Amino acid sequence: MSGKKKIVVRGGQVYDHDGDVHKPKVADILIEGSEIVAVGQNVDAGGAEVVDARNRLVVPGLINAHYHSHDTLCRGLFEELPLEFWLLYTLPLGQNRSKEELRARTLVGALESIRCGITCVQDMLGLAPLDDESTDVVVKAYQDIGLRVVFSPMVWDVPPVAMVRHKESLPEDVQEMLGNVGRPVDAQLDYLNSQFNRHPAKGTLHWAVAPFAPQRCTPKMLQGCADLSHKHNLPIYTHVYETRGQRLIARELFADHDGSLITYLERNGLLNPKLNIVHSVWITRQEMDRMAKAGAGIVLNHLSNLKLKSGIAPVLDMRESGVRLGLGCDNCSGSDVQSIFQAMKMFCMIASVSDPEPGAPLAHEVIRHATLGNARSAGLQGQVGALKPGHKADMVLIDLNDTAYLPYNSAARQFVYTETGRGIDKVMIDGRMVLQDRRVTTIDEDALRREVEGLMKHFIAEYEDVKKSRARALPYMLDAHRKMWEPDVGMNRFISRTRT
Ligand SMILES: [Zn+2]
Repeated sequence: MSGKKKIVVRGGQVYDHDGDVHKPKVADILIEGSEIVAVGQNVDAGGAEVVDARNRLVVPGLINAHYHSHDTLCRGLFEELPLEFWLLYTLPLGQNRSKEELRARTLVGALESIRCGITCVQDMLGLAPLDDESTDVVVKAYQDIGLRVVFSPMVWDVPPVAMVRHKESLPEDVQEMLGNVGRPVDAQLDYLNSQFNRHPAKGTLHWAVAPFAPQRCTPKMLQGCADLSHKHNLPIYTHVYETRGQRLIARELFADHDGSLITYLERNGLLNPKLNIVHSVWITRQEMDRMAKAGAGIVLNHLSNLKLKSGIAPVLDMRESGVRLGLGCDNCSGSDVQSIFQAMKMFCMIASVSDPEPGAPLAHEVIRHATLGNARSAGLQGQVGALKPGHKADMVLIDLNDTAYLPYNSAARQFVYTETGRGIDKVMIDGRMVLQDRRVTTIDEDALRREVEGLMKHFIAEYEDVKKSRARALPYMLDAHRKMWEPDVGMNRFISRTRT
């Protein structure tokens, strides 16, 4: 007999992607250490600790395939701002922070994730400075709270101002506010290589490579990322075609690459099954087909795309192209919530703006995206995303006494359309019960609250200063923003309005 701890989750309705998604069968789940070893009726659980799951829906842990922990303390500070404006504020507030703040902000996002049934998060972190000490703080915070993380400190060498079309129309000081200084390539690639070796992936820690966005990286940087991904067998995540302006930037500045950021990625060794492009609101159908053929994937973030006024991603075309799909919740100040429930519901409903006929997407399909699809994006297929023997014990227990299930007609539909996270009773990650009776067991939530309260006095004072200093930039930004609307881009991602 192995010395691993045994737990049996007894008598729950265990959600099976391939079974009855409306009325899942009652089953037991036997866990040894961090892994599920058996799922079935009356499994032999001699000596195992019993978790009573009667009247609970047991679902695979949800995965968030796009998130940035660097702005969790900015939650609730912004509205009305389009992406490029919003960057003016969030970039300075995310960089060069104290170690206390770094730890607290990581824990705040992780705590919210766990409470919302997220057992694994892809943290594309804007870390500055990129150093061992800061990395250790983040890794330790995730390990302490027990959230599985696919960690990817972002790298880039072209300055952030490259996100704005017509950046040359902005005065020097406004360009500086957005960030007009590049970063050396080699130092960042060496940093990543060194972190992958210092903290080898194990337990709940996984790594990914994240070049910020193609237009923010020279070929040397992209090729370096492709090499690292290959050498360490890691997935890649990068932001592509989030806004209309980025579609135009592709056409104007990447004309040598067919005006396509996908071609630019391909020519630098990144269009392959490890690639995930995030957002893709302004991608063409032909580019989707190329992505699908290459086995690359798209991670959708409808919530932040709507909050930051970027438009609506063409879900139906993506489904038709067969490109693999995942879902993310994005920044805490760019959608303001780490809730895959909101993301799933949005995915199912947003398609109706382009097609009023009956048909998909359906609830059980989007649950696959939020579990199996997101696992695949991180190269964790077969390890997380389903409740099957050999998979990691990452699961969420939902209380079916919650009013979301009164009456209880369909697990999949009510989980997607009705659940808010309120019914979440227990969360297990890697065989460890991290949420019990709706309280996180791994950290002191009240102490974290007090700590954040203390940090916010200073943080809000800084925010007020940043806000004041940015006022000068707004008219120039608006002008540059409007220029983004002039040329025809051959596609529309907004619903037109009547100005009468
Ligand atoms: Zn992002």
